[in-house]
Amino acid sequence: MNPAGFIVNDKCIGCGKCIKVCPGGVLYMGEDRKPHIQEFEEFGWNGCWRCEHCLAVCPEGAVSVLHHWPEESLAIETMEKLGDEAQLNVIRYWEKEMK
Ligand code: SF4
Ligand code: SF4
Repeated sequence: MNPAGFIVNDKCIGCGKCIKVCPGGVLYMGEDRKPHIQEFEEFGWNGCWRCEHCLAVCPEGAVSVLHHWPEESLAIETMEKLGDEAQLNVIRYWEKEMK
């Protein structure tokens, strides 16, 4: 069961950024070097916070969650509404966080 509909496509390079940013801590790196989502079938819910951060930070556009792909991401839509300087600040922040 995967209620969040978390999947990655072949573009994934196994960088782990989606796992690091997940506030629910529900993503993990599999032996196949691809991220996977925890499954708690007994709850019918896998702990996903529905934030779409995993989708937003993926440098390869490889994540789909909640049936959204990067081009439909709320985070990207929000970024596009920001000015250039604000967008740069967001990028700088995440670059620092991901080190
Ligand atoms: S949507 Fe948020 S909580 Fe759900 S798997 Fe992605 S990063 Fe984790
Ligand atoms: S952020 Fe994207 S490329 Fe990196 S591990 Fe996650 S799905 Fe793969």
